[in-house]
Amino acid sequence: MFIDSHAHIFFEDFKDEVGDILNRAKEAGVGCMINVGTDIESSQTVINLAEKYPQIFAIVGIHPHEVQEMTDQDLVTLKEMAQHEKVVAIGEVGLDYYYEHSPKDIQQKRLRDFIKLAREVKLPLVIHCRDAFEDCFRIFDEENAWKLGGVFHCYTGDLETAKKIIKKGFYVSFSGIITFKKATELHEAVKNLPRDRYLIETDCPFLAPEPFRGKRNEPAYVKYIAEKIAELKSLNVSDVARISARNTKDVFGLPIELPDDVAKIAYRIRNSLYLNITNQCTLSCVFCPKFDDWMVKGHYLKNDHEPTEEEILKAIDDVGDVNQFQEIVFCGFGESTLRLELLKSVAKRLKARGSRLRLDTEGLGNLVHRRNILPELAGLIDSVSVSLNAPDAKTYAKVCPSKFGEEAFPAVKAFILEAKKHIPTVVASAVGLPNMNITAIQKIAEEELGVPFRLRPYDEVG
Ligand code: SF4
Ligand SMILES: [Zn+2]
Ligand SMILES: [Zn+2]
Repeated sequence: MFIDSHAHIFFEDFKDEVGDILNRAKEAGVGCMINVGTDIESSQTVINLAEKYPQIFAIVGIHPHEVQEMTDQDLVTLKEMAQHEKVVAIGEVGLDYYYEHSPKDIQQKRLRDFIKLAREVKLPLVIHCRDAFEDCFRIFDEENAWKLGGVFHCYTGDLETAKKIIKKGFYVSFSGIITFKKATELHEAVKNLPRDRYLIETDCPFLAPEPFRGKRNEPAYVKYIAEKIAELKSLNVSDVARISARNTKDVFGLPIELPDDVAKIAYRIRNSLYLNITNQCTLSCVFCPKFDDWMVKGHYLKNDHEPTEEEILKAIDDVGDVNQFQEIVFCGFGESTLRLELLKSVAKRLKARGSRLRLDTEGLGNLVHRRNILPELAGLIDSVSVSLNAPDAKTYAKVCPSKFGEEAFPAVKAFILEAKKHIPTVVASAVGLPNMNITAIQKIAEEELGVPFRLRPYDEVG
């Protein structure tokens, strides 16, 4: 399901057509949309539409283009409007120095007013910011606005600015602009964006994506934005839909149910099925995202109990026919070999169904179990990816702390060497932490251990 996180279904362009537009959106898989006011009149209209249609939510505010005419009474009116149960944020508000339809000092003053309003009504902010990030961030710092949470909508800035926004706890939202060929800087930002803190939006009736550029835009077209993000990030469109819908629900606190509201034992990313059979870990890696939010590509992975074999097999069947997947990966937010007997038993069942199986592991299984577990995995696991993560024992103990201390690193290397005897494909990987000597790790993998090396991107925030 897609959510169009920012639309303006009130302009003249949509007159008398709302029903048709919503039908087309539904057909295109858009389950829900957020309709954003730009002045007092349209803020009332978005509330009226939200009352009429369950799939529409409303955001009230005054666009920076319009703030010159704004009065303090408007703030009182907006405050009343914001009490409505379907109003989910204050927006779109912000700074636009590109067009500068309102003088800069007025824009800044009103942005401060809207931040105060959002704080009073306990709602997040939807920010329109064009050529004004410096002032916007300064005002955010001075007014402590980051705490309110929210979205920088129609994001067109660079990667560094996006990182800053995300580090401060806000989201960025991408519009049809990312489908334009010339938006190369934006493409780079999307590709390298840390974590998955993005939303998708049409900003209709403006900014129609390719192939409708220049025409009237509408919520049904949000899928073209998802397609472009999927292409840039090497994901499936369904991955992008799930991630962005999850983020939209979270940032606006939408009272809607998503299929991923329950913790996942089996989950799909791209064309693989991943199994999250335990949340236990030997390590507490400095880069592990689970210490932040337990989300992987829009899947929630914090199980409230360790799943049984029956639960795991049922979760797999619920996702669909296993033969549709290129491979099934024991991964999740935990170390699968800590539940070795269960891992083997599930692997045996899946092997019998003809699946290709991969194990992602930290490679400490032999140390933990105090025996060589690799012969037990032979014939069950087709490939194993071991996290090497450091060029030496000391560094390893720092980035992947465990009770084994400096004993861990030689054990990981020994595990890789032993794995080669029993598992057809063995790969060593490392997370590309800043200041980490990746070349040295790669050399150990390829030359000392004789296995291919894979660099995993560091999903750093900031
Ligand atoms: S082994 Fe994996 S799940 Fe465990 S702390 Fe490290 S990165 Fe996180
Ligand atoms: Zn805008
Ligand atoms: Zn807008």
